[in-house]
Amino acid sequence: MKKIDLHIHTNYSDGLLSPKEVLELAKERGYDVIAITDHDNLGGYRAAKDLAETNGIELIPGVEISSFHKGRDVHILAYNIDTEDEKLNILLKSIYDSRYERAKKMVEKLNEQGIKLKMEQVQELTGENNYLGRPHISRAMINAGYCKDKYEAFEKYIGEHCYAYVPKSAPSSKKVIKAIRRAGGISVLAHPYSLRDDRLVYDLIRFGIDGLEVFYAKSNDETIYHYNEIAQNNYLIRTGGSDFHGEGIDLEIFGNYTAPEFVLDELNRGNYE
Ligand code: AMP
Ligand code: FE
Ligand code: FE
Ligand code: ZN
Repeated sequence: MKKIDLHIHTNYSDGLLSPKEVLELAKERGYDVIAITDHDNLGGYRAAKDLAETNGIELIPGVEISSFHKGRDVHILAYNIDTEDEKLNILLKSIYDSRYERAKKMVEKLNEQGIKLKMEQVQELTGENNYLGRPHISRAMINAGYCKDKYEAFEKYIGEHCYAYVPKSAPSSKKVIKAIRRAGGISVLAHPYSLRDDRLVYDLIRFGIDGLEVFYAKSNDETIYHYNEIAQNNYLIRTGGSDFHGEGIDLEIFGNYTAPEFVLDELNRGNYE
């Protein structure tokens, strides 16, 4: 039986490990097939591509694209895309490029709340390509002693419901789904439960999303059952992954998790259209 994880981050987005370290750890923990799905850039995948073969790991091209629908932050996974597709790369760059100003605005709002954080303290935590995400802000807040862990930071300060949250200037979910299809790829709604509103899930199905990330490692059995039903009833493919970021509980999950083997068949087949 193959061991599979189709949702992994490196330090090209908000993970802590480099692509090389991720591959070595994946090998050590017995994975056969993985996808590096960094947020809004393909740098991590590109860096891992040649190394994967040496490690005897099958690497599926992937990226987790930020989008907006009805004011919500919707993460759409793209698999098996043509990674050189020009339009897709322009789209990714525009989201990526907006992150610096957005992080600056968030730091300013935190300052208004008495959190004396400087942009430099956040920037010194970035990885390979100066990618700036909320996890970098949470890590800087923890380092400066303002929070005990990232959950506290997201709950009190930088979650979608908080004062200091600033949305990214991301494209609509509809546009992202279309861009993925044009680039020959498969679009999958990441961690559907995190929207906490299935009406949004059905909107995305109407927009033509190909699949749901049913087998998300941090979902309980009930949630998996629920999204498995929605996927099957709507002729969607199913994928799964751990959303590894290289820290905390993720290090325990990575290796103990696998997506079912049929996710590979469904990914190769595409949706039923
Ligand atoms: P951003 O794209 O900069 O808005 O950051 C989104 C990332 O923040 C997600 O991919 C997760 O890595 C992390 N994140 C979002 N919500 C939470 C949360 N409630 N607790 C911990 N991490 C979170
Ligand atoms: Fe992330
Ligand atoms: Fe995500
Ligand atoms: Zn992710």
